[in-house]
Amino acid sequence: MPDSSSRWYNPGVKQPGLKRDERLARVIDAAIDHVDEAVLITTAGLDLPGPEIVYVNDGFCRMTGYAAEEVLGKTPRILQGPKTDRAELDRLRRCLSQGKPFYGGEITNYRKDGSEYVLAWYILPMVDDAGEITHWMANQRDVTERRALEDQLRHQALHDPLTGLPNRVLLMDRLEHALKRADRREGRVAVCFMDLDDFKVVNDSLGHEAGDRLLVALAGRLEGSLRREDTLARFGGDEFVVLIEDAPDASRATGVADRIVDALREPFVVEGREVFATLSMGIVLADSPRERPEDLLRKADIAMYRAKEKDKAGYAVFDPSMNARVVERMESEGDLRRALRLGEFTVHYQPKVLLETGAIVGVEALARWVHPERGLVPPAGFIPQAEESGLIVPIGRWVLEEACRQAREWQTLHPIDPPLVVCVNISGRQFRYPGLVQDVARVLRESRLEPGSLDLEITENVLIESAQNGLPVERLRRLGAKMIIDDFGTGYSSLSYLKRLPVDFLKVDRSFVEGLGRDPKDEGIVSSVIDLARVLGMETIAEGVESVEQAERLRELGCRFAQGYLFSKPMAAEEMGELLATGARLTGSASGGGPQPDAPGGA
Ligand code: C2E
Ligand code: MG
Ligand code: MG
Repeated sequence: MPDSSSRWYNPGVKQPGLKRDERLARVIDAAIDHVDEAVLITTAGLDLPGPEIVYVNDGFCRMTGYAAEEVLGKTPRILQGPKTDRAELDRLRRCLSQGKPFYGGEITNYRKDGSEYVLAWYILPMVDDAGEITHWMANQRDVTERRALEDQLRHQALHDPLTGLPNRVLLMDRLEHALKRADRREGRVAVCFMDLDDFKVVNDSLGHEAGDRLLVALAGRLEGSLRREDTLARFGGDEFVVLIEDAPDASRATGVADRIVDALREPFVVEGREVFATLSMGIVLADSPRERPEDLLRKADIAMYRAKEKDKAGYAVFDPSMNARVVERMESEGDLRRALRLGEFTVHYQPKVLLETGAIVGVEALARWVHPERGLVPPAGFIPQAEESGLIVPIGRWVLEEACRQAREWQTLHPIDPPLVVCVNISGRQFRYPGLVQDVARVLRESRLEPGSLDLEITENVLIESAQNGLPVERLRRLGAKMIIDDFGTGYSSLSYLKRLPVDFLKVDRSFVEGLGRDPKDEGIVSSVIDLARVLGMETIAEGVESVEQAERLRELGCRFAQGYLFSKPMAAEEMGELLATGARLTGSASGGGPQPDAPGGA
């Protein structure tokens, strides 16, 4: 041990009256008090009652809230508490008993007021001239803030900021661990992948903030219907995943799904409005503990899509046959999604005429896809896929918006009396979609189109289903829109249904119109449909009228309205606008055909 005097420049020696050691000791004391860190010196005894504190600096008092006289003579154990890491203390004891310096990790201690702080520390032995350890000097640095920040960053990295739920990263981690645990215990793990049905509608109609609020409320309800052991994570936008440990068979997971369906029966209130949220869920049970988390999630996702296809607001359990259809479906679905995003859909219009005068009284909106490679694709080329994937809902909504906006514009530019009517086709899937009535109401409001100027066409079968399930025909009519049964005669409506069903028009299918003037059976059918409509207080429209004879016959039979190539093929909005501007009457007889036909690929 070097003599301390050799390490210090000490002018005190030249000053008589002050003993060298005292002066230096005071300087060192003051210096140590200014250090930000806590310095604590104890006696070296390790036997009980343990080392005694013989010195603390001001830094220690600032850090712990103790005054020096409160701790002098006590053991450092007064700083420990329930969260103090025992293993770290054991390591410390071992180190000190061997007389070695101790470089600690981080440890939690307790201030005088009981609050916790985290410190990084080290302890050095102090030896006397003979090399004996007489004291231990502990140095402690308060890292509570840094630790809190680290914890916060870690939390942020693993949780979704909106809902506070575990995020995808944490989910994958837990899933991996759950699979390992299941392997050890020979248990099984189930995953339920959930996607909010038609979340876009909420976002688009109520705004993103409302959408966020719905997600938060939804997360709360989901959590409420799970056990504590199950992990609920937000996987992405409107996707959530539940990880269910110890699921001996699918019934644990389907039980969870049932509870979730129940929990969503009541509407949410967002921005003062009631919003019904439903989830489509896909369930998968891990067959083998060696299954990878990402494969498990992919399967659950596939099953979820199956649930969406079947009918929303339900669940499907994965089975391997689902794999095959996925590739095919994803391609066409991806195409359609892209088309929707890039605005590749357009609407063509076919005039509806009053047979008596040839006046255009309305237009039917017919969707077209302007495909970058395939050109103009008619509905037959994409509506079935859209229907299957559920994309018909957003596509149909877009058609409705566009058609109403356009009709309103034409009403202003080319006014007629009564105002031009626009007719929009609604498919089965759209009709079952719970937000349809809200959508129609919103579109009418935003386009400022009179509800009486909107006709909605559905097919017989969809309508019949509606009669059985109480679907929204009544509510749509209450909004003021009129209902048309499209392709009438090809479905299976019974007279008793027709009597009860609140519709305004029957649209005679083209297949019957075709035989008019040629086939007495068709004549009979068309004539009965017209009579039937009259008895039930409905109007009749004939579709697919291609010849003057057909038009003539229809008029004789008492049908007032018609559509068909005889008058005009469907055409782009611009052309339709020009036609309306002329105020032309379409009788089909003089010119031997209507104006220019649909663009290539059209009907
Ligand atoms: P629809 O509602 O029965 O429409 C009538 C179809 O017959 C149209 O075919 C029209 O172009 C065609 N057509 C009209 N007059 C004649 C004619 O004189 N002769 C012949 N041979 N055909 C005629 P398009 O545009 O290909 O539409 C086919 C179907 O696709 C529609 O049948 C409708 O069910 C569906 N669709 C069209 N647009 C939409 C839409 O926006 N949403 C939904 N959900 N379905 C749509
Ligand atoms: Mg139609
Ligand atoms: Mg039709």
